[in-house]
Amino acid sequence: MLVIMKNDATEEQVRAVIREIETLGYRGIPIPGAQRTAVCIIGNQGTVEDSSLLALDGVKETIRVTKSYKLVSKETHPQPTVITIGNVMIGGEKPVIMAGPCAIESEKQALAIARIVKKYGAQVFRGGAFKPRTSPYSFQGLGEEGLKILKKVREETDLLIITEAIDHTNIELIERYADIIQLGARNMQNYSLLRQAGQAKKPILLKRGFAATIEELLMSAEYIMAEGNSQVILCERGIRTFSDNTRNTLDLSAILSIKEVSHLPVVVDPSHAAGRREYVIPLSKGAIAIGADGILVEVHNDPLHALSDGMQSLYPEQFAELVKEVEALAR
Ligand code: PEP
Ligand code: MN
Repeated sequence: MLVIMKNDATEEQVRAVIREIETLGYRGIPIPGAQRTAVCIIGNQGTVEDSSLLALDGVKETIRVTKSYKLVSKETHPQPTVITIGNVMIGGEKPVIMAGPCAIESEKQALAIARIVKKYGAQVFRGGAFKPRTSPYSFQGLGEEGLKILKKVREETDLLIITEAIDHTNIELIERYADIIQLGARNMQNYSLLRQAGQAKKPILLKRGFAATIEELLMSAEYIMAEGNSQVILCERGIRTFSDNTRNTLDLSAILSIKEVSHLPVVVDPSHAAGRREYVIPLSKGAIAIGADGILVEVHNDPLHALSDGMQSLYPEQFAELVKEVEALAR
């Protein structure tokens, strides 16, 4: 349920509503809007008796939320969420470009790629230090050494850093180094990780699991938001279908479906969807054309020798082309 405050409600009146919600045995999360504040009630399993809330000063009305997610929903927050980090806006007018290698392999490799993606127009540098690999014998990432390299990348290039947290025990470590914490497709329903991410003070990029519905993705985002972190970016990265011409099938309609019901920004990862670099530029254009808020893309200076996902990593010149195409489309 949402408690909608009157336009001129005071902060004390909002606090009184939250106290009453707590007396009823639930939690109240205030959501300030352009016109008025709403207070979202969470923790209830059935309907909430609202008469004591309606009687409080400053309360306009209550709205019953019919879905199993609330904080991610447009009913709670009608305006699109814009996440601002430094001078980068995600969900704003311009698409954000996040680019870099699948994995941080060495300082030399990371800095070389970071300089390239910066030069061609990326705002965020991606690169995994902890890699969730399908095989236990594949390269698992450099761990904290990789995070230290990412710190150097930020110092040298001023790019923001996105890197993945693979379980709830390493999220605090990742938070110290990253500007955005990535949660991967394999972990979309790792609830202890989602809850821990909800306590982080950094934005979270949540990837859609490769067998997850949109509703399941939104409920996973709800786990993060219910812990108090409202800065969530959703990412469509391809799902598993019978179609085997690509690594996964990019579900472009997911962008439309998410935007119909949620205020959260949505970016697209064409690299893990395609699995092959020749498809990455066209898929990125498709994503931007139908309203994605940005692209998360793998780029490598030497893809043929990359320690992971080389086949889908763009060459530097291809990345330059992608940025040009995306910017033209966005305009
Ligand atoms: C990645 O971004 O390198 C990655 C592992 O992605 P996903 O979780 O989508 O497979
Ligand atoms: Mn990868």
